[in-house]
Amino acid sequence: MSERPRPQRVVRSATVLRTETLSPSLVRIVFGGPDLAALPELTYTDHYVKLLFPPAGADYAWPFDTEEIRGSRPAQLWPVTRTYTIRWFDRDTGELAIDFVVHGDAGLAGPWAANAQPGDMLGFNGPGGAYAPDPEASHLLAGDEAALPAIAAALERMPADAQADVFVEVADAAHEIPLRVTERTRLVWVHRGDAPYGLALAQAVRRQWTPRADSQVFVHGNAELVRDLRRFLFVEHKVERKAVSISGYWRTGFTEDRWQSTKRELAEQMEREEQVQLLGAS
Ligand SMILES: Cc1cc2nc3c(=O)[nH]c(=O)nc-3n(C[C@H](O)[C@H](O)[C@H](O)COP(=O)(O)OP(=O)(O)OC[C@H]3O[C@@H](n4cnc5c(N)ncnc54)[C@H](O)[C@@H]3O)c2cc1C
Repeated sequence: MSERPRPQRVVRSATVLRTETLSPSLVRIVFGGPDLAALPELTYTDHYVKLLFPPAGADYAWPFDTEEIRGSRPAQLWPVTRTYTIRWFDRDTGELAIDFVVHGDAGLAGPWAANAQPGDMLGFNGPGGAYAPDPEASHLLAGDEAALPAIAAALERMPADAQADVFVEVADAAHEIPLRVTERTRLVWVHRGDAPYGLALAQAVRRQWTPRADSQVFVHGNAELVRDLRRFLFVEHKVERKAVSISGYWRTGFTEDRWQSTKRELAEQMEREEQVQLLGAS
């Protein structure tokens, strides 16, 4: 049987223009370069790109041809992708910002961002995206540091009179950053302390939020948060699935490659559990 050709993805190049420390765990990198002018119109607030990184031990650096490398190197040396939200893109200046969580020495993208210097370059695919706040809805936005860029972008898009409950988990008060809020925004910073990722956030949402008929929900971040809040939303409150954007952006102890290759299976398992719980409750 002949192998199906891999779909050709547009690969673009971006150059670091400047970096800015937003908090002890978040660094903003502003990129430029001629390829950015060709980005399509960005209609969502959770647009993301897939950044390309050579894995540890690779003998090449950007710019590289992924297909050429896949044909000439063993699989463990093929480029890997890391997914990041476009925090903002200014078409007039051609500048694009990404806010990276700096989470220690593990991984590729976090350490790369922590050490990035003007002139550094990387390649990326995308953008993808799926969510934008409905101007007519009441909102729940909940997430950890990895979802903070998408939450910040959503808040900036909302009409001034939009009602929004916003729960963001960070390590402690020193990790809070300014967000655009209005009189109708309830912003709750949840401090994780030494607890596992997502636990305090899920508890805060459970205690302090109840759905309304016009609720639109955006919940992203650590996979454990998502597991708990899916049950809360879909089983305990029977919130309509079409009003909800919920997924794990990352998983404790998993590289993104491993997380992405197991994510669908976990989501299907959670859906089966939710169906059983719904049947049991009816
Ligand atoms: C649609 C989407 C949008 C995203 N947007 C952003 C964004 O704007 N900013 C952002 O920072 N992240 C974002 N993420 C999450 C990001 O892709 C992952 O955190 C990714 O694993 C980071 O890659 P890495 O190379 O640094 O670490 P990896 O090599 O993937 O993982 C190495 C280790 O670090 C741990 N780790 C990974 N991420 C974190 C974290 N956030 N906190 C603590 N430990 C971690 C892993 O569990 C693993 O043990 C997004 C993910 C998705 C799916």
